[in-house]
Amino acid sequence: MIGYSSALKRAAAGPLLLPRQWGVEQMLELRPNCECCDRDLPPDTLAARICSFECTFCVDCAEGVVGGRCPNCGGELVRRPIRPAEKLARFPASTQRKVKPGGCV
Ligand SMILES: [Zn+2]
Ligand SMILES: [Zn+2]
Repeated sequence: MIGYSSALKRAAAGPLLLPRQWGVEQMLELRPNCECCDRDLPPDTLAARICSFECTFCVDCAEGVVGGRCPNCGGELVRRPIRPAEKLARFPASTQRKVKPGGCV
């Protein structure tokens, strides 16, 4: 029964290979506003642009004032995908507003 008891010890010590936030599926934050102009960007809008760090902008700022590059990290800004409404119930969008002090100009 050596194998059995060492398996029990392993289980008591806790699983080793689980992701840090086990049970929480990784997903985009879907921030609620543009970092530049603070315009609302609901999760179903086609006008949201994000960089790979999820800095979030409206299309007007992304293509206008910041020139298609994230002003925070210099990365590419692309259209944020829409999260289907039925998924939003279980995986709600972030409500934490983030705005650059002084805007992006
Ligand atoms: Zn904006
Ligand atoms: Zn960025």
